[in-house]
Amino acid sequence: MILRCPVCGKSPIFAPLLHTRSLRDWFSPLDGCPRCGYPYEREPGYFLASTWMINYGAGSVLGIVIYLALDLTIHPPIGWLLAAVITPIILFNLLFARHSKALFIAIDHLSDPHEKDPGEDGGNLPKPDAPTKGSGGPAQPTPKPKTELQNV
Ligand SMILES: [Zn+2]
Repeated sequence: MILRCPVCGKSPIFAPLLHTRSLRDWFSPLDGCPRCGYPYEREPGYFLASTWMINYGAGSVLGIVIYLALDLTIHPPIGWLLAAVITPIILFNLLFARHSKALFIAIDHLSDPHEKDPGEDGGNLPKPDAPTKGSGGPAQPTPKPKTELQNV
């Protein structure tokens, strides 16, 4: 949540604010930890879960809370109510996007830590991708059950 590497706890996960030139820079983490080499994005699409579940999930909860609080207390007109609910959600999602990714990296590291491999590089480089289960490869032809011809 403090946007630091989950392994060494020192290096930042994201580029500093002064070095971000676009919204994409703001949302994209660095390739890996400059200090310990921990790769932040393990595979393409790695952060889908963080974006959808953590960030949008938290934004939805925020929206529901604001809606209920306003509707139950001052009961504003619907247009006013929608603006009052949607504006903070958008702001929240923009500001919380980095934290949701950092949280996801930390949870992932906690549940499935990278193995430190003291190889030639001192364990500082990510291992080459190992084939994961069910990720493809040449499909094995399934042997067809031999059907016996029945001569009647
Ligand atoms: Zn690190």
